[in-house]
Amino acid sequence: LKLYFNASELITNKGVASKDGVSVDETDLGIIHEGALVTDDTGKILWLGRTMDLPRRYSKITRRMDLSGKIICPALVDCHTHLVFAGARHSEFAMRIAGKSYSDIAAAGGGIKSSVEQTVAITEEKLFKISKARIEAMMAYGVRIVEIKSGYGLSWPEERKLLRVAQRLKASFADKLIIRVTFLGAHAFPKWCKTKQDRDQFVDEICEVMLPAVKREKLADACDVFFDKGYFDRRQSEKILRKARLLGLDIKLHADELADTNGAALAAEMRCLSADHLLKAKLINLKKMAKAGVTAVILPGTAFYLGLPYVDMKKIRKSGVTPALATDYNPGSSPCLNLPFMMTLACTQMGMTTAEAFGAATYGGARALGVHKQQGHLSVGMRPLLSILRVTSYQALIAEYAHPGFSV
Ligand SMILES: [Zn+2]
Repeated sequence: LKLYFNASELITNKGVASKDGVSVDETDLGIIHEGALVTDDTGKILWLGRTMDLPRRYSKITRRMDLSGKIICPALVDCHTHLVFAGARHSEFAMRIAGKSYSDIAAAGGGIKSSVEQTVAITEEKLFKISKARIEAMMAYGVRIVEIKSGYGLSWPEERKLLRVAQRLKASFADKLIIRVTFLGAHAFPKWCKTKQDRDQFVDEICEVMLPAVKREKLADACDVFFDKGYFDRRQSEKILRKARLLGLDIKLHADELADTNGAALAAEMRCLSADHLLKAKLINLKKMAKAGVTAVILPGTAFYLGLPYVDMKKIRKSGVTPALATDYNPGSSPCLNLPFMMTLACTQMGMTTAEAFGAATYGGARALGVHKQQGHLSVGMRPLLSILRVTSYQALIAEYAHPGFSV
C-alpha cells in the first residue's frame, strides 16, 4: 500500500466528471484540504479524504509521502502536441515580428514544409533523443498524459519513422506516463502535389497505403486531419476519417483554425473524439459538437504566439461543449511545452475561470483522448495517474504564470 498525506489540496474533480466537464465551477473540483490518499501497489485508490479522518487500518503504512505544501490531483493532460520533429523555425518568428506576412514567410521556405525538410534529414535515433528530452521537460510541468501526432514526414517511410519514435517514447515512459499516438499524415500536402489530381492521389495514398500500414504495425491509436482553408478540403478529410474509423482507429480533426470551413460540424457528424483549434468556429456548429459528445480542444498558445484573436469562452459555455486545453506544442505556431501557462492564457485572454481551466487541462484533456473513464478524476476503485505539484493550491499553478515547473 502507499499513503499520500497532508496535501494542501487533494483535488478529485468529482463534480467535473459528473458534469462531463461542462459549466464547471470551483465546487466541482472537489477540493479536500489537508487531504490524504491510499492506493494499493497497482495504483488503485482504496481510500481518500482528510488526513485527520484516515482510517486506523491505514495508519501503519510504511510507504508514505508527506505532501505538506503540495497539491495532488488527477494527471494533467496535454492532449494535442506535434512533439516529434527536428530543427527549429525561430527565423520565422523574427520575420513575423518584423512585419512579414504569411506568404513572405512561405516564399522564404518557412512553414510546415520547412519542418518536414529538417525532420526528414535526421535519423530515427536522433529524433528519438530530442523528442525524449521534450517529454522530460513537459513532465516538469506535471503533465502525465500526452498525445503525440506525426505529420512532419508526409511520405510513408518518413511518417512511419515519426510514428516509430512516438511508439518508442510510449514504451520507454510506460511506467510514468500515458502516451497516445495520433497519425497525422494529412498535416499538409507534400511538395510534389501541384494539381488537384496530385492532392487527391496523396489522399488515396493515405487511405490505401498509410492507414492500413498504421493499423497493421499498430503504430497509432488515432488519426487526425488538418481540415482547413488551403489544406485538406471537406471531401478529402471525410474520406480519410471514414477509412480510419473503418480500421478501428479513433478519429480527431484540426478544425476551423484559419477559416470557418464548418470543421466543427464535420467533427460532430463523424463523431470525432475531438475537434481542435476552433478559433473561427460558429456557435451553431459548437452546439452540434456538444450534442455529438465531441470535445473542444482549445489551444491558446497559438493565438498568443501568432497574435490572433482567442476562442471566446462565452461561446464555448453557451454551446454546452466540453472544453479541453493543450499546448499544440510545435515548431511553427506554439513552441511551448508549458501546459499550466496555457491555463493562465485561457483565464486572462479567453475568460475561463481558474476552475474551468483546471478542469479543461485534466478531465477535458482525458476526454479528448477517450480515456476519461479511467483518468481525469479521482474516486475509490479507480487507477488514475496522479500529478503532484509543488504549489499550495491549484490557483497558484495558474497564477504564477510561465513558471519553469512545479512537478515533484
Ligand atoms: Zn495541431
